[in-house]
Amino acid sequence: MKVELIAYTPEPDITAAAAAKLTHSKSDASELLKEDREKMKKLLRIVIKMGHTSVVEHAYFTFAISGVSRALTHQLVRHRIASYSQQSQRYVEQEMEYVTPPSILKNEKIKKKYDEMMKKIWGLYNEMKKDAPIEDARYILPNATTSKIIVSMNARSLLNFFELRCCLHAQWEIRKLAWRMLHLVKKVAPTIFEDAGPPCRTRGYCPMNKKDCIWYPK
Ligand SMILES: Cc1cc2nc3c(=O)[nH]c(=O)nc-3n(C[C@H](O)[C@H](O)[C@H](O)COP(=O)(O)OP(=O)(O)OC[C@H]3O[C@@H](n4cnc5c(N)ncnc54)[C@H](O)[C@@H]3O)c2cc1C
Repeated sequence: MKVELIAYTPEPDITAAAAAKLTHSKSDASELLKEDREKMKKLLRIVIKMGHTSVVEHAYFTFAISGVSRALTHQLVRHRIASYSQQSQRYVEQEMEYVTPPSILKNEKIKKKYDEMMKKIWGLYNEMKKDAPIEDARYILPNATTSKIIVSMNARSLLNFFELRCCLHAQWEIRKLAWRMLHLVKKVAPTIFEDAGPPCRTRGYCPMNKKDCIWYPK
């Protein structure tokens, strides 16, 4: 899995803080943007804690993601408050590249069968490609097929994404992606994402009441 933060709103914390401050100020945004950075961040923390998270919608983040399975991207695109561009299986011939889940990796016998099946599938894909368009040949490809996708989300949507997908209850691959994305945005917007993550960390309780979870709040 490769995850890169390829673009983002300049000074995301300050942009969101200026948006918050503007609502209660006579000053123009350009003047507010010159104010003391630490004071701005302090205000932003308060506003986020109050639940007025619409101000963080002004901060946008774009990620380039590759080497992930179609099983993952299918879950990712369910997050509707986002923009996506995904490599097309209609137009791009698919090489034999697939994700192997850790549970299969550690089981030698199953892993062997898994790899053999992938070879068979791609054998048929390559055979079908000769007589049918690749948009039809792709019907044989598995969920494990790797994909490339660019996703842009605003910070509010990302906070929701991290709550749902950093959780130990989320599927392992998208959880891994969510944590990687969270580490990247924390570097450039530490105030917005200060308390981001699964609800057991952000809210101190588990909405699903999963008492058997190792992260269940004590
Ligand atoms: C652990 C886990 C298991 C899951 N299992 C399944 C499953 O078995 N089957 C399945 O189909 N999905 C499943 N999902 C997907 C899940 O139901 C959501 O579709 C997905 O997580 C996107 O979340 P979202 O709607 O909050 O995000 P977004 O689509 O980004 O929406 C963000 C927020 O905007 C608001 N919003 C967006 N669209 C609307 C709308 N039309 N009307 C009103 N408010 C809206 C909501 O407040 C929403 O929370 C699962 C998700 C998780 C995390």
